Amino acid sequence: MKRENIRLPNDALWLLQTLRAAGHSAYVVGGCVRDSLLGRTPGDWDICTSARPEQTRALFADRRLILTGAKHGTVGVVLHGKPYEITTYRQDGAYRDHRHPESVRFVGDLAGDLARRDFTINAMAYAPGEGVIDLHGGRRDLAGGIIRCVGDPAARFAEDALRILRAVRFAARLDFAMDPATAAAALAARDTLQTVSAERVYAELDGLLAAPGAGAALDRYGAILAGAVPEIAACIGCSQPGRWHCYDVWRHTAAAVGALDLRGQDTRGARVLCWATFLHDIAKPPCRTVGPDGIAHFKGHNQRGAVMARAILRRLKAPVYLVEGAAGLIAIHDAPVPVGDTAILKALNRYGPVFLRRLCALKYADLDAHAPTAEVACRRAEVSFFEARMSVLAKEGCYTVRQLAVNGADLMEAGELSGPAVGNALHALLRAVMEGRIPNRREALLAAARELDRSFP
Ligand code: ATP
Ligand code: MG
Repeated sequence: MKRENIRLPNDALWLLQTLRAAGHSAYVVGGCVRDSLLGRTPGDWDICTSARPEQTRALFADRRLILTGAKHGTVGVVLHGKPYEITTYRQDGAYRDHRHPESVRFVGDLAGDLARRDFTINAMAYAPGEGVIDLHGGRRDLAGGIIRCVGDPAARFAEDALRILRAVRFAARLDFAMDPATAAAALAARDTLQTVSAERVYAELDGLLAAPGAGAALDRYGAILAGAVPEIAACIGCSQPGRWHCYDVWRHTAAAVGALDLRGQDTRGARVLCWATFLHDIAKPPCRTVGPDGIAHFKGHNQRGAVMARAILRRLKAPVYLVEGAAGLIAIHDAPVPVGDTAILKALNRYGPVFLRRLCALKYADLDAHAPTAEVACRRAEVSFFEARMSVLAKEGCYTVRQLAVNGADLMEAGELSGPAVGNALHALLRAVMEGRIPNRREALLAAARELDRSFP
């Protein structure tokens, strides 16, 4: 990791130079330094400076400014359409309720600013010519793959409980492990996550689930995450004796999240799938029974899981499409896939192809987190047959009234049908087409409609 020279984008460089030319000190800081040292492309370039917010504002007065962060000492400067955050060196004041600092106090130097940052890998600054300013062992921890609090972890988590989730999210994002002292403090403080606003918790969990190492992080840090989603606690160690499973409910969940293949999904689909997989078996603990043969059963965990997932997601103030999308998948995640064209067309009619494609992705992830037996492989093959045929029928098949070769006007013209009878007839025709009783051709449909008309005067 000898990439001491960080290449700044021209705009970030210009901001640093302008601040420095005006007599202030200024550095890029935080995530962009961390990502650059890892050889990753930073998402955004944050700048910290000795300039007071009003000085920064004056310096860039001819630019478009974003002043929503002014209270925290942040001035946003928009260059070439991209906002850069310039924040005055600060220390956070006293904290209330493990959440927000009561006040921010501006400090004179970079060292004070770095000391208030959450993790060593996030507490580095850089300026061309000066190199990396690393006062807390950030480079050592980057090299070792370690998430470690700056200073005393218990104190840092007491200041801001959200850092507990940030630690897990960064572990998942970078495939790092928490330092044992940081992990122990996070576990001990997990219940204080209940005091953090739902929006902040949701945003961190969402980022965690989308991270490449989410499965491993869930597996390792489930007990910590139970501070944010208490329902997880009962899943940890909830055993599943029988021929299907090789993991307890939580390890299975983590393995499923790790196995999730999101290729071909749009942003919403990916988010819905991550959360649905995360919560798909959340109702297994309350549904668990063990038969006389020693085998565990989880009757009703689909439906009950949908109810629990909906409650959890609403509690976290997740967007409605996510609440409904995830709960809808969970409600049928374990049901057998439809077999045969009629059943598949009816599923397309009821759920639509987008939902069914997501369902298949969830099922693959779920099955890939089962015991690797021939039976499981067989179930996976069934899903794959279903998905292939469903994709063909979604393109070529007729599964909605609008896809029928006749419409309401055709029926009214041809017969004496009117009003609701037209709608009923169209649905009866669609059913007949999906069941393969009549072809989706105009003449055949009109003839069938006349038949219908006679049988239901
Ligand atoms: P990302 O790529 O996810 O944006 P990031 O490191 O830039 O990663 P941000 O949330 O954008 O994370 O925060 C920017 C920097 O601010 C962090 O690198 C860290 O130094 C500091 N920081 C952010 N949130 C906290 C917090 N809750 N407590 C202490 N420091 C924080
Ligand atoms: Mg950032």
